Amino acid sequence: MDDMSRNPSSQGTAKEGAGVFKEQDEEARFIWNLRPRTLDEYIGQREVVESLVIALTAARNRGEPIDHILFHGPPGLGKTTLAHIIAGEMQSRIIHTAGPALEKPVDIVGILSNLDTGEVLFIDEIHRLSRTIEEYLYSAMEDFEVNFIYGKGAFARTLPYQLKHFTLVGATTRAGLLTPPLRDRFGMIYHLDYYAPEELARVVKRSARILGVHLDEEGSMEIARRSRGTPRIANRLLRRVRDYAEVTADGKITQALADEALTREGVDRAGLDRLDRLYLTTILENYRGGPVGVEALAATLNEETNTLVDVVEPFLLKMGFVIRTPAGRRVGEPARAHLGYAAEGGGQQRLL
Ligand code: ADP
Repeated sequence: MDDMSRNPSSQGTAKEGAGVFKEQDEEARFIWNLRPRTLDEYIGQREVVESLVIALTAARNRGEPIDHILFHGPPGLGKTTLAHIIAGEMQSRIIHTAGPALEKPVDIVGILSNLDTGEVLFIDEIHRLSRTIEEYLYSAMEDFEVNFIYGKGAFARTLPYQLKHFTLVGATTRAGLLTPPLRDRFGMIYHLDYYAPEELARVVKRSARILGVHLDEEGSMEIARRSRGTPRIANRLLRRVRDYAEVTADGKITQALADEALTREGVDRAGLDRLDRLYLTTILENYRGGPVGVEALAATLNEETNTLVDVVEPFLLKMGFVIRTPAGRRVGEPARAHLGYAAEGGGQQRLL
């Protein structure tokens, strides 16, 4: 989910950040350049932003580090961006790592013991931490202390080590997978929801300005409507449309041009991509519209269950295109209409 180095951590202040990508690919640089650096630049998620402004101002006024924060929500909605903004607003260094990168106790103890007061430790995919690492975090978050264990068996001894007052920012696509003890240690928990098309149009216009791309109002709305409510996708589609505009036209992005480019990319008018449509048509055609268990569906599609649950389904659920029932997933009426299938009870054949 992140665009920075994962192994096991990377660090820098918000200002230094661009340097992290010196040896990385163009895509990472592109994403970095478009990332808002302050809460003022951060579009949408009003309630989250307002609450963070208060918490940051209060912490700064007291001269204290901000409390631990958890962000949850689908990928690409701006969780990593917020973590970097928080560090920037607190003028602190941020250490960036991810759950799967922390394998051994020494990984987490090494990072924690090097954190200074007020510094931010960002753990992406925090639901994927191993149980052992998670247990180290309990005392680190609550008492700013970790216990070094040295020696083995009957000779094992624990040595408490005092940590500085750091801030942990966690991000997850699956809050439900977090254990209650870990969840309870966050002072603030925020859910990021999909963006409205108007907000995404602002994201696209801001990115176009930074990239020097000519884009009219309708062109930005067209890209926004087809971005699955997700800023990361909006920026990616802008890049595809920009390429298309440069090669086939004069580089200017209009609604008609955006429509043409995105249709060619396989992104339809509701913003569904090929995998979304395959997911829906598989339920319709192989499972008579459902219900079907997600594991069976993943096997039929030859996809990871996690990809379906974390990436594909949240947006389809939000749109009412899929319905989750105790017996499994069912295709919703709006999806039948969108894909040109007869309404439920009318058979599974396509109308068009
Ligand atoms: P997540 O960590 O939730 O997967 P990111 O923070 O990596 O998402 O966001 C992906 C990209 O989307 C960022 O690089 C940034 O350019 C863009 N983005 C995310 N949120 C916003 C926002 N609120 N305003 C403008 N751009 C955003």
